[in-house]
Amino acid sequence: MMVLKDLRCTACDQLFDDVYVDSNKPSPCPECGGERVTSWHTGQCPGVECSLVFKPLKVGNVTLHSKAQRDAWLKGVNKRMRRHGKGEVGLESDSPAKRKQDYDEIRHDTETRRKAAGISVQQTTEMTTEHKARKREAANAH
Ligand SMILES: [Zn+2]
Repeated sequence: MMVLKDLRCTACDQLFDDVYVDSNKPSPCPECGGERVTSWHTGQCPGVECSLVFKPLKVGNVTLHSKAQRDAWLKGVNKRMRRHGKGEVGLESDSPAKRKQDYDEIRHDTETRRKAAGISVQQTTEMTTEHKARKREAANAH
């Protein structure tokens, strides 16, 4: 069981912040059964597994272009976390309550890291807006 972050339905365009899945594939959209892909709309993706569609992610001055780069970056973050006596980012869950608790902690850590890395909520919003604009262009081109 793992969490996929920031999924978007390719059919009805609905956004999903977090989805629990058993495999590393997103489950179909509960609304329309469409295929769901990673959209990065909250910018919170690093920290949990979400490897399907990797879009470049800006973290501070660094842009992560691939899952491998993100993993390497995350490794560095975890190293720092350990130095500060904190646990690693990851999911080891045995019950929904524990899972929720783990997830809340991860979410908090992600927030903290994002602040530390200088990614503001505004930037995240800009990313989303930009994404929407690109999509409009793509739609108009047809
Ligand atoms: Zn859908």
